[in-house]
Amino acid sequence: MSTADIDSKHPLELDKPRISVKNPEQRYDKQGDMPDVERVETAMRHFVKDFGAVAATYMESCIHCGMCADACHFYVATEDPKYTPIWKLEPFKQAYKREAGPFAPIYRALNLKKKVTVEQLEEWQELIYDSCTMCGRCTLICPMGIDIASLVGLARHGMNKAGLVPHELWAVAERAEREGSPLGATPKVFKDRCEWLADDNEIEIFVDKPQADVIAAMSSIEIMKYPDSIVATAKILNHLGLNWTFRTDGYEATNFGMLSGNSEWQKEMSLKLINATIAAGAKLLILPECGHAYGAMRWQGANIYGKPLPFRVLHISEFLAENTKSGAIKTKPLGKTLTFHDPCQISRRGGAIEAPRDVLDGLGAEVIEMKDTKGLNWCCGGGGGVVTIHRADPIRYQAFQIKMKQVDDTGAELLVSSCSNCRQTFDDGQDHFHWDKTMLSLLELVAENLEDK
Ligand code: SF4
Ligand code: SF4
Repeated sequence: MSTADIDSKHPLELDKPRISVKNPEQRYDKQGDMPDVERVETAMRHFVKDFGAVAATYMESCIHCGMCADACHFYVATEDPKYTPIWKLEPFKQAYKREAGPFAPIYRALNLKKKVTVEQLEEWQELIYDSCTMCGRCTLICPMGIDIASLVGLARHGMNKAGLVPHELWAVAERAEREGSPLGATPKVFKDRCEWLADDNEIEIFVDKPQADVIAAMSSIEIMKYPDSIVATAKILNHLGLNWTFRTDGYEATNFGMLSGNSEWQKEMSLKLINATIAAGAKLLILPECGHAYGAMRWQGANIYGKPLPFRVLHISEFLAENTKSGAIKTKPLGKTLTFHDPCQISRRGGAIEAPRDVLDGLGAEVIEMKDTKGLNWCCGGGGGVVTIHRADPIRYQAFQIKMKQVDDTGAELLVSSCSNCRQTFDDGQDHFHWDKTMLSLLELVAENLEDK
């Protein structure tokens, strides 16, 4: 399928509770016109190539205890054994045992592990894309510490090379490569948006200052769907009197390359932001309310750059926490009870667990924690690109019911988080279930309640 076909057949839906391209018609998606044999060989070659010592150790250390099943929202919601986390890696494991493991020649000679077929890979697409948010909850529970989320990420790489990515995820990643933004937030769109938001809100939004101490970044979801995040960011940075700017040569903290499994695309996108921050001579890059974008830059940025980044990288909640604790940000007391949804990539995977709570403390809010909170939170079900995949809707909604119950059980008046991807998953879930809870952004809550200096 050509790019032109994708854009005309599956244009972006921007006015729905979540952003995605329109429904694909096929159950399993393929890109390109590779013959099946070549597709399988390509996938296998990359599975084996990507296998380092760490992945091999993980594969060899599974004791088949099954504990990861009860950790995964997709298994818990369906009780279908195929959604057991370790099972999601079966073709990957098959490739490893047959082609790269210590007993590979024996496995091959005796055909103990059969050759993976294209049909298996097509079926597998659902397991490693539609029903894995790479939330890492299984990793936390696994007694052997097997990082299934990372292995799923590696497996997605091979699937991407073989042209076996769910259509919508591939389409937005490809668009990011082609246009510079997965959701059409091109430099012109972004700059225009900043201008009208500045006018509408009578606020200064700095764009393309040649030199600045702080670079702020946005996710495309925020630019296109939650532009109040841009205003909130500007309001807080102005309030602090910082020398800051957005830059049109690097403004989007994005991760669709990583989610679709295309590390080259991810590298290109991440380098834009890194190079823009260096060009401005900035000492700090503030990442937006986007979980996977946080992981892509905070934990993989230096690897992508090839050496330590010459600036600090903070998620916006960490930045707000630092300034709340130092007293630089003072907010009016909220006087309401609230519960906080920990975005998996920021809390469990990223380690920024206390930062949002410090900010909420500054807001004078009474936080009612959910059962299984902080590192053990349940995922909203939309991470890892799952929210973009239409055919995953039924299982995603099943998993979302776990989250709804957690929130409802707290009895809190407000629901807050700090990830725009979680936010659109909640918005979509709210719409689907006619739920009475609306997800609020931590960043916007702070900006709305700033105490005048
Ligand atoms: S990373 Fe999350 S979604 Fe994926 S298998 Fe583990 S618990 Fe399930
Ligand atoms: S919890 Fe860990 S050791 Fe147990 S089955 Fe799952 S991956 Fe294997």
